[in-house]
Amino acid sequence: MSFVDIKNVRKSFANVEVLKGVTINVEKGEIVTIIGRSGSGKSTLLRCINGLESIDDGEIRINGEVVHDKATDLRRLREKVGIVFQQFNLFPHMTVEQNITLAPTLTKRVAKGEAARKLAHEVLSRVGLEQKIDAYPEQLSGGQQQRVAIARCLAMGPELMLFDEVTSALDPELVGEVLKVMEDLARQGMTMILVTHEMNFARNVASKIVFMHAGKVHEQGAPAALFANPATPELRNFISSTH
Ligand code: ADP
Ligand code: MG
Repeated sequence: MSFVDIKNVRKSFANVEVLKGVTINVEKGEIVTIIGRSGSGKSTLLRCINGLESIDDGEIRINGEVVHDKATDLRRLREKVGIVFQQFNLFPHMTVEQNITLAPTLTKRVAKGEAARKLAHEVLSRVGLEQKIDAYPEQLSGGQQQRVAIARCLAMGPELMLFDEVTSALDPELVGEVLKVMEDLARQGMTMILVTHEMNFARNVASKIVFMHAGKVHEQGAPAALFANPATPELRNFISSTH
């Protein structure tokens, strides 16, 4: 069984089927990039993977554990499965350190005080922002805020990270620094599933590309092969629309 095993997942919102039987396997350490047009179901799929959405049929297992099982402790599962969104969602009235240490101190992953500050330091160094530990979000650029959001996620010690268009809300000149952080995480062996419009990043960093179209996995494969030889007109059109 794969580390992330998504099998025939179906999901409807008010009689509209948004995921129509999605099957994807992700091995430990793999970087899977999901691409596809707006409305194809990418965000819904990510939200299903960490249990933010229920599913109507099929199964999602992470490290063998069935996500949508009554017996599954979703809170604990979400500590292992971090998600970062387009909007950074930092608490504006809290410092960077407080933003990062809130969840891990609440869950008793780390004690308040020195240990928590040390953890904040540690994860901030992984995104290159140790010097901003006492800053407030409004004192940071969008790119820096997104890096703090990633650090906050890392502070929970995730085994899998989900990224949903994390650079889409950023000014173009700030995109690179966030992609670099994600590339570093990939190189360090983090298992990642990410939705992005950054085709160069997908091409260079992903181990596998999944092209979603109308709620289904329309094509998937290694980046070089998929981009060079799209098998369907839908993927061919999508690729040319991103140039
Ligand atoms: P993508 O991320 O690929 O743009 P989404 O997963 O956000 O696609 O959306 C897929 C479809 O599901 C869209 O038609 C969207 O309008 C619909 N949808 C998403 N979330 C909800 C919701 N909470 N309620 C109703 N419809 C939704
Ligand atoms: Mg989306």
